[in-house]
Amino acid sequence: MTDPIKLESLSLGSEGMTCTDDWCAVPGAEEAKAGSGAVRARTILPGATVGILGGGQLGRMLAHAGSRLGYRFVTLDPTPEAPCGQTAAQIVARYDDREAARELARRSDVITYEFENVDAGVAAMLEAESYVPQGSALLHTTQHRLREKRAIEAAGATVAPYAEVASLEALREAAARLGLPAVLKTATGGYDGKGQWVLRTEADLEAAWPEASKGGTELVLEKFISFEKEISVIAARRPSGEIRTFPPAENVHVNNILHLSIVPARISDEVRREAERLAVSIAETLGVVGLIAVEMFVQADGKLFINELAPRPHNSGHYTIEASRTSQFEQHIRAICDLPLGDPGLQTPVVMVNVLGQHVEPLLEWMKTHDAEAEKLGVEPKVHLYGKAESKHNRKMGHVNVLAKDVDAALAWIAQSNIWRV
Ligand code: AMP
Repeated sequence: MTDPIKLESLSLGSEGMTCTDDWCAVPGAEEAKAGSGAVRARTILPGATVGILGGGQLGRMLAHAGSRLGYRFVTLDPTPEAPCGQTAAQIVARYDDREAARELARRSDVITYEFENVDAGVAAMLEAESYVPQGSALLHTTQHRLREKRAIEAAGATVAPYAEVASLEALREAAARLGLPAVLKTATGGYDGKGQWVLRTEADLEAAWPEASKGGTELVLEKFISFEKEISVIAARRPSGEIRTFPPAENVHVNNILHLSIVPARISDEVRREAERLAVSIAETLGVVGLIAVEMFVQADGKLFINELAPRPHNSGHYTIEASRTSQFEQHIRAICDLPLGDPGLQTPVVMVNVLGQHVEPLLEWMKTHDAEAEKLGVEPKVHLYGKAESKHNRKMGHVNVLAKDVDAALAWIAQSNIWRV
């Protein structure tokens, strides 16, 4: 846990005030972007309505935490009865529907989003016409891997050596310079390992190129980092500059999808302090308002590389719901409403384990039973299901926060459970 840090003033995002690309061609974007560095803080008190762009599980959990504080919620999502729409009023419309976004603005005192690929035009429009304390500059930065990497470097943190590649020839040159193995990634739109190709040999370059380049999106080649662990730190910052960080989570992925977040992470105090320091520096440099999740690779010697950022609540922060004094969701609401941030300190060791479509049936079976093994191990599994109508293989349907006296007990309970066998 870090102490709150007071900043003199809001800093501009590392992108500064210049508009040099397509995003800025969007009407209103220039003004919105210029304005976003200097958001005038407003204190939004309970009783007010928070509008959430996106109605998935992150919105749902924001609404749960915020409702408890007395806020009202309205969400915009194309799927009727979306996870958040079950706990908040919902406008059913596409994310790029400007009229629907205007209605969201009319019905809200403050607007936030639960995913970063918000349509740039909608983001700029909302920022110009309503109150979006997070601003659109942060979205603009985190929507694009190259811009994001430059911002991370500006914050004094290290990313894997990388190169922009616009042709097969450029890919060959970049691979020769960075060395193989390397990871080819689309600059925009990738998630859970989608839009990524691990290149191990020269032949892999030729094989991956047609598929990688067919979408016409820009591509980035990254050196493959041999890491010992993946961790993430979630920082919260409010407009007045107060910053707090949640304890780092140690993340284990299966098939590129987050499986476990182990907290406390099994890292040295030195690595923990450095990870938190980097998250604070990134939050300051980007002028974050709300949450920023910072994913990192930890090498055997403790060196940290930043992998990517997410300007929203993050799957690896779900553990905070029961295990921290303040959850990431409450903290996000506090930050965008410019209330003093809560204590992010850990109350108990915890392992968060994701529930994917294939885990739902065994989970429901287990819920009917009295679990003697949990009692024996002294663990308390807390179930969260997102209310999604359709359960699909590998779709995130919920998670379980396994509270325990130590993380080994929680991991032992998960290993002996029948829920995560498939
Ligand atoms: P991303 O979508 O960038 O978060 O990548 C998904 C996963 O791929 C990460 O969580 C890592 O396990 C792995 N990965 C991504 N980039 C690299 C890299 N440069 N070196 C090694 N592993 C990587």
